[in-house]
Amino acid sequence: LRANGINDERVLNAIRTVPRLLFIHEVLAPRAYEDTALPIGQGQTISQPWVVARMTEALMESEPRKVLEVGTGSGYQAAVLAALGLEVHTVERIGELLRVARKRFRTLGLTVRSKHDDGRAGWPENGPFDAILVTAAAPALVDELKAQLVPGGVLIAPVGPANSQSLVRIRQRADGGFDEEVLAPVVFVPLLSGTVD
Ligand code: SAH
Repeated sequence: LRANGINDERVLNAIRTVPRLLFIHEVLAPRAYEDTALPIGQGQTISQPWVVARMTEALMESEPRKVLEVGTGSGYQAAVLAALGLEVHTVERIGELLRVARKRFRTLGLTVRSKHDDGRAGWPENGPFDAILVTAAAPALVDELKAQLVPGGVLIAPVGPANSQSLVRIRQRADGGFDEEVLAPVVFVPLLSGTVD
C-alpha cells in the first residue's frame, strides 16, 4: 500500500492491525492479503485493500471523530475505521451479511454501531456525522446523506455507472455549498434500494 501511494501512518497501522483473513470465507484464505476485491456472498464483495486505504486516508484528512459507513458488507472497512479510534456507525441492506459482520466486530472486540436498513437514508437519529463513507456506487451523490454532515463535513463515495466510476470527495463550505474532488477511478457494486433478509 505504501508503494502505491498510501502514506498516512495511522491508516497503514490500522490496516496492519485488522486481520482481513477474518472477513472472508475460509476457502479464500490463501488470497486474504492480495490487493484485490473478493466475493463475500450475496453477490457482494469485500473491497480491494488499496481502495479501503485510500478512502480511509481521504476521510482521515479532515480529522473526523464520528463517521457513518453505508454498505457494511463484510465489516472490514468499518473495522479499520474502528481500529483508528473513530466512533463508527454502519448500515447494511442485506441482513445475512450484517449478522456475520457483527460477529466479527464482537470477535475483534471492536465497538461498531450497526443497523439493517437502506443506507441511502443515512442514520438521521445518530447524525450529524463528521464524515460519511459510501461503499457502493450510485449514479449521483445522495442528498439525504449530504444533509447528515456537520458543517465542514466530508462525504466520500463512488459515483457513476458500473463501467466508469470515480471516487469522489465533497466537503461542505461555510456558505452551505459543496466543493468536489475526484480522487481515483474505482469499481464498486451498486447502491441498491430497500432491504433483504
Ligand atoms: N464496506 C464493505 C464493502 C461491501 S460491498 C466491506 O468492507 O466489506 C458494498 C455493500 O453495500 C454490500 O454489502 C451491499 O449489500 C451494500 N449496499 C448496497 N446498497 C446499499 C444500501 N442502499 N444501503 C446499505 N447497504 C447497501
